[in-house]
Amino acid sequence: MSTRKTIRCSLVFWLLTSRLLSMMAQTPQNYPANYASHPRFRALVVWSPHAEEAHIQFSKDALHFFRKLTYGEGFLMDTTTSLRPYVDSLQNYHIIVMLNAQPQDKKEREAFQSYMEKGGGWMGFHAAAYNDQNTHWPWFNQFLGCGSFYCNNWPPQSALVECDTTHTVTRSLPASFVVPESEFYQWNPSPRTNKDVRVLLSISPKMYPFGIKDIVQWGDFPIVWTHTRYRMIYLNMGHGDSGFTDATQNLLFVNAFRWVVSQHPQGNPFEAKK
Ligand code: ZN
Repeated sequence: MSTRKTIRCSLVFWLLTSRLLSMMAQTPQNYPANYASHPRFRALVVWSPHAEEAHIQFSKDALHFFRKLTYGEGFLMDTTTSLRPYVDSLQNYHIIVMLNAQPQDKKEREAFQSYMEKGGGWMGFHAAAYNDQNTHWPWFNQFLGCGSFYCNNWPPQSALVECDTTHTVTRSLPASFVVPESEFYQWNPSPRTNKDVRVLLSISPKMYPFGIKDIVQWGDFPIVWTHTRYRMIYLNMGHGDSGFTDATQNLLFVNAFRWVVSQHPQGNPFEAKK
């Protein structure tokens, strides 16, 4: 082989090899995953030890559920049974998760209201939204986008739900599925009557009459919604020890959590850095 031929063959070999290597090693823009090297956001999880036993049970299961989501330091999670130590630092959190708990006094209510009105994130479960004629917190109803607690099924039982799958939180869920047993609250007026509310999940009318002791006969029955003027989502599940036993419902919880965090005014921590 002549020297010229040898050089030409070496050049072709080098070109083919480099082309193959470049195909095997995708450029960072095309790489399908990004691995965070440090926590990207902070969550504050609030629960109450002064609640009925079934609400405490759910809260403890939820603490375990959310704690598992922190594995690998994807985010920092602080847990507390009182908002009081955090009233001056709520703005440091991308999201506040309230497990059957809510602000307890004037100072905590004012801090929470200020946090939400400045773009704060909230994910509330079950009794986190409970209110009646003794609550005396009009802003809270305006924030929730609904009236007071109206009635509930009893005992806790599973239920067929209808799902609006056109929202980011629900697009990976079926249009209809069965959720694990819980006590479900109906509200008056229903949040669906509020033009700023987007209802994502409702108890199916096929469930009526719904209950064994306390029987809900009829009525609009939303159980998951977001008030679009706030970065918030409310989920009515939260009673007893079955809250995290269903893969579909667990996916709903993760989707809801991620969605609230992703709407943070300073950007979506789940998106790849440009
Ligand atoms: Zn309950």
